[in-house]
Amino acid sequence: MIVCTHSHVDHAPGARPLQAMYAHKPPILGVPSGPLARASSHFVPDRELRDGELLVLADDAHTHRLLVVSTPGHASNHVCLALLEDRLLFSGDHILNGSTSIIDPPDGNVTAYLTSVDRMDALCSEREIDFILPAHGYVLDRARDQIARLKAHRLAREAKIAEEVKALPNGSLEDWLRVAYDDVPERLWPAASRSLLAHLERLDEQRHTSQACSRP
Ligand SMILES: [Zn+2]
Repeated sequence: MIVCTHSHVDHAPGARPLQAMYAHKPPILGVPSGPLARASSHFVPDRELRDGELLVLADDAHTHRLLVVSTPGHASNHVCLALLEDRLLFSGDHILNGSTSIIDPPDGNVTAYLTSVDRMDALCSEREIDFILPAHGYVLDRARDQIARLKAHRLAREAKIAEEVKALPNGSLEDWLRVAYDDVPERLWPAASRSLLAHLERLDEQRHTSQACSRP
Protein backbone atom coordinates (compact mmCIF):
# COMPACT_ATOMS: atom_id res chain seq x y z
CA MET A 1 0.00 0.00 0.00
CA ILE A 2 0.98 3.63 -0.50
CA VAL A 3 -0.10 5.94 2.31
CA CYS A 4 -0.35 9.70 1.78
CA THR A 5 -0.18 11.91 4.88
CA HIS A 6 -1.85 14.81 3.04
CA SER A 7 -2.58 16.34 -0.31
CA HIS A 8 0.01 19.13 -0.73
CA VAL A 9 1.85 19.36 -4.04
CA ASP A 10 5.10 17.94 -2.66
CA HIS A 11 3.32 14.84 -1.29
CA ALA A 12 0.25 13.21 -2.86
CA PRO A 13 1.08 13.81 -6.58
CA GLY A 14 3.97 11.33 -6.22
CA ALA A 15 1.60 8.51 -5.31
CA ARG A 16 0.24 7.67 -8.79
CA PRO A 17 3.66 7.50 -10.53
CA LEU A 18 4.93 5.38 -7.63
CA GLN A 19 1.93 3.08 -7.90
CA ALA A 20 2.57 2.69 -11.66
CA MET A 21 6.07 1.34 -10.96
CA TYR A 22 4.62 -1.76 -9.30
CA ALA A 23 3.00 -4.64 -11.20
CA HIS A 24 0.55 -5.39 -8.37
CA LYS A 25 -0.63 -1.75 -8.26
CA PRO A 26 -0.62 -1.11 -4.49
CA PRO A 27 -3.66 0.90 -3.38
CA ILE A 28 -3.21 4.58 -2.51
CA LEU A 29 -4.60 5.30 0.94
CA GLY A 30 -5.30 8.66 2.53
CA VAL A 31 -8.04 11.17 3.23
CA PRO A 32 -9.57 13.08 0.27
CA SER A 33 -8.63 16.77 0.10
CA GLY A 34 -11.09 19.13 1.77
CA PRO A 35 -13.45 21.51 -0.09
CA LEU A 36 -11.24 24.52 0.72
CA ALA A 37 -7.98 22.97 -0.53
CA ARG A 38 -6.18 24.65 -3.44
CA ALA A 39 -6.82 23.09 -6.86
CA SER A 40 -3.16 21.97 -6.95
CA SER A 41 -3.79 19.97 -3.76
CA HIS A 42 -6.82 18.09 -5.05
CA PHE A 43 -6.49 14.46 -3.96
CA VAL A 44 -8.70 11.38 -4.10
CA PRO A 45 -7.24 8.15 -2.65
CA ASP A 46 -8.17 4.67 -3.84
CA ARG A 47 -9.48 4.07 -0.33
CA GLU A 48 -10.20 6.57 2.43
CA LEU A 49 -8.40 6.11 5.75
CA ARG A 50 -10.39 6.42 8.98
CA ASP A 51 -9.16 7.96 12.21
CA GLY A 52 -8.00 5.19 14.57
CA GLU A 53 -7.71 2.60 11.80
CA LEU A 54 -4.89 0.05 12.02
CA LEU A 55 -2.96 -0.90 8.88
CA VAL A 56 -1.54 -4.35 9.54
CA LEU A 57 1.65 -5.48 7.79
CA ALA A 58 2.26 -9.16 8.44
CA ASP A 59 4.18 -12.15 7.18
CA ASP A 60 4.76 -15.52 8.87
CA ALA A 61 7.32 -14.16 11.29
CA HIS A 62 6.40 -10.53 11.94
CA THR A 63 3.45 -8.25 12.42
CA HIS A 64 3.65 -4.47 12.31
CA ARG A 65 0.72 -2.17 12.87
CA LEU A 66 0.42 1.41 11.66
CA LEU A 67 -2.11 3.44 13.59
CA VAL A 68 -3.80 6.20 11.56
CA VAL A 69 -4.41 9.42 13.47
CA SER A 70 -6.33 12.31 11.96
CA THR A 71 -4.32 15.54 12.45
CA PRO A 72 -5.95 18.44 10.57
CA GLY A 73 -4.32 21.87 10.76
CA HIS A 74 -1.39 22.02 8.33
CA ALA A 75 -3.88 20.58 5.83
CA SER A 76 -7.46 19.60 6.57
CA ASN A 77 -6.88 16.03 5.34
CA HIS A 78 -3.58 15.46 7.19
CA VAL A 79 -2.94 12.15 8.96
CA CYS A 80 0.01 11.02 11.07
CA LEU A 81 0.90 7.36 11.47
CA ALA A 82 2.36 5.55 14.46
CA LEU A 83 4.32 2.35 13.89
CA LEU A 84 3.30 0.76 17.16
CA GLU A 85 5.79 -2.11 17.46
CA ASP A 86 8.76 0.20 16.86
CA ARG A 87 7.24 3.16 18.70
CA LEU A 88 7.88 5.58 15.82
CA LEU A 89 5.70 8.47 14.72
CA PHE A 90 5.52 9.39 11.03
CA SER A 91 4.47 13.01 11.33
CA GLY A 92 4.17 14.09 7.67
CA ASP A 93 4.29 17.89 7.59
CA HIS A 94 2.55 18.28 10.93
CA ILE A 95 5.84 18.20 12.85
CA LEU A 96 9.02 19.03 10.94
CA ASN A 97 12.70 19.13 11.80
CA GLY A 98 14.46 22.44 11.18
CA SER A 99 11.41 24.41 10.09
CA THR A 100 7.91 25.31 11.24
CA SER A 101 4.85 23.92 9.46
CA ILE A 102 3.17 26.47 7.21
CA ILE A 103 -0.53 26.87 7.87
CA ASP A 104 -2.15 28.02 4.66
CA PRO A 105 -5.76 29.14 5.15
CA PRO A 106 -8.54 28.42 4.51
CA ASP A 107 -7.64 24.70 4.23
CA GLY A 108 -5.02 25.19 6.97
CA ASN A 109 -6.28 26.22 10.40
CA VAL A 110 -4.28 27.16 13.51
CA THR A 111 -6.85 26.03 16.10
CA ALA A 112 -7.15 22.63 14.42
CA TYR A 113 -3.35 22.49 14.20
CA LEU A 114 -2.89 23.09 17.93
CA THR A 115 -5.58 20.52 18.79
CA SER A 116 -3.70 18.01 16.61
CA VAL A 117 -0.43 18.91 18.36
CA ASP A 118 -2.05 18.02 21.70
CA ARG A 119 -3.30 14.80 20.17
CA MET A 120 0.22 13.88 19.05
CA ASP A 121 1.52 14.55 22.56
CA ALA A 122 -1.13 12.29 24.09
CA LEU A 123 -0.34 9.60 21.51
CA CYS A 124 3.42 9.74 22.24
CA SER A 125 2.71 9.52 25.96
CA GLU A 126 0.22 6.66 25.66
CA ARG A 127 2.25 4.62 23.17
CA GLU A 128 5.67 5.52 24.63
CA ILE A 129 6.86 6.99 21.35
CA ASP A 130 10.28 8.65 21.55
CA PHE A 131 11.16 9.21 17.91
CA ILE A 132 9.44 11.30 15.24
CA LEU A 133 10.13 10.80 11.52
CA PRO A 134 9.02 13.98 9.74
CA ALA A 135 8.45 14.31 6.00
CA HIS A 136 11.14 17.02 5.86
CA GLY A 137 14.35 16.98 7.92
CA TYR A 138 16.07 14.38 10.06
CA VAL A 139 14.62 12.12 12.75
CA LEU A 140 13.70 13.87 15.99
CA ASP A 141 14.30 12.25 19.36
CA ARG A 142 12.65 13.11 22.72
CA ALA A 143 9.32 13.33 20.94
CA ARG A 144 7.28 14.92 23.70
CA ASP A 145 9.91 17.61 24.38
CA GLN A 146 9.93 18.48 20.68
CA ILE A 147 6.13 18.69 20.61
CA ALA A 148 6.10 20.95 23.70
CA ARG A 149 8.74 23.21 22.10
CA LEU A 150 6.76 23.36 18.86
CA LYS A 151 3.56 24.35 20.65
CA ALA A 152 5.35 27.01 22.71
CA HIS A 153 6.93 28.42 19.55
CA ARG A 154 3.56 28.59 17.82
CA LEU A 155 1.89 30.35 20.75
CA ALA A 156 4.81 32.75 21.16
CA ARG A 157 4.48 33.69 17.49
CA GLU A 158 0.78 34.25 17.95
CA ALA A 159 1.41 36.48 20.99
CA LYS A 160 3.93 38.49 18.94
CA ILE A 161 1.39 38.92 16.14
CA ALA A 162 -1.36 39.96 18.58
CA GLU A 163 0.98 42.52 20.15
CA GLU A 164 1.90 43.97 16.77
CA VAL A 165 -1.74 44.20 15.64
CA LYS A 166 -2.59 45.98 18.89
CA ALA A 167 0.31 48.42 18.43
CA LEU A 168 -0.58 49.09 14.79
CA PRO A 169 -4.33 48.42 14.43
CA ASN A 170 -4.57 49.97 10.96
CA GLY A 171 -1.41 48.30 9.66
CA SER A 172 -1.23 46.17 6.53
CA LEU A 173 -0.33 42.50 6.34
CA GLU A 174 3.17 43.58 5.21
CA ASP A 175 3.57 45.91 8.21
CA TRP A 176 2.67 43.19 10.68
CA LEU A 177 4.74 40.56 8.84
CA ARG A 178 7.87 42.72 8.98
CA VAL A 179 7.74 42.95 12.78
CA ALA A 180 6.08 39.68 13.81
CA TYR A 181 8.48 37.64 11.64
CA ASP A 182 11.59 39.81 12.06
CA ASP A 183 13.54 36.72 13.18
CA VAL A 184 12.72 34.87 9.93
CA PRO A 185 14.83 35.36 6.74
CA GLU A 186 13.08 37.60 4.21
CA ARG A 187 13.08 34.88 1.53
CA LEU A 188 10.64 32.93 3.74
CA TRP A 189 8.21 35.82 4.14
CA PRO A 190 5.86 34.76 1.31
CA ALA A 191 5.26 31.46 3.15
CA ALA A 192 5.22 33.21 6.54
CA SER A 193 2.51 35.57 5.31
CA ARG A 194 0.18 32.57 4.89
CA SER A 195 0.77 31.51 8.50
CA LEU A 196 0.34 35.14 9.59
CA LEU A 197 -3.05 35.18 7.87
CA ALA A 198 -3.99 31.92 9.63
CA HIS A 199 -3.09 33.41 13.03
CA LEU A 200 -5.04 36.60 12.25
CA GLU A 201 -8.11 34.47 11.44
CA ARG A 202 -7.77 32.71 14.79
CA LEU A 203 -7.27 35.98 16.72
CA ASP A 204 -10.37 37.34 15.00
CA GLU A 205 -12.38 34.23 15.94
CA GLN A 206 -11.21 34.54 19.56
CA ARG A 207 -12.19 38.23 19.65
CA HIS A 208 -15.68 37.44 18.35
CA THR A 209 -16.09 34.62 20.87
CA SER A 210 -15.05 36.81 23.82
CA GLN A 211 -17.33 39.64 22.61
CA ALA A 212 -20.27 37.22 22.34
CA CYS A 213 -19.56 35.92 25.86
CA SER A 214 -19.32 39.38 27.41
CA ARG A 215 -22.64 40.61 26.02
CA PRO A 216 -25.41 40.87 28.62
ZN1 LIG B 1 2.33 20.01 3.44
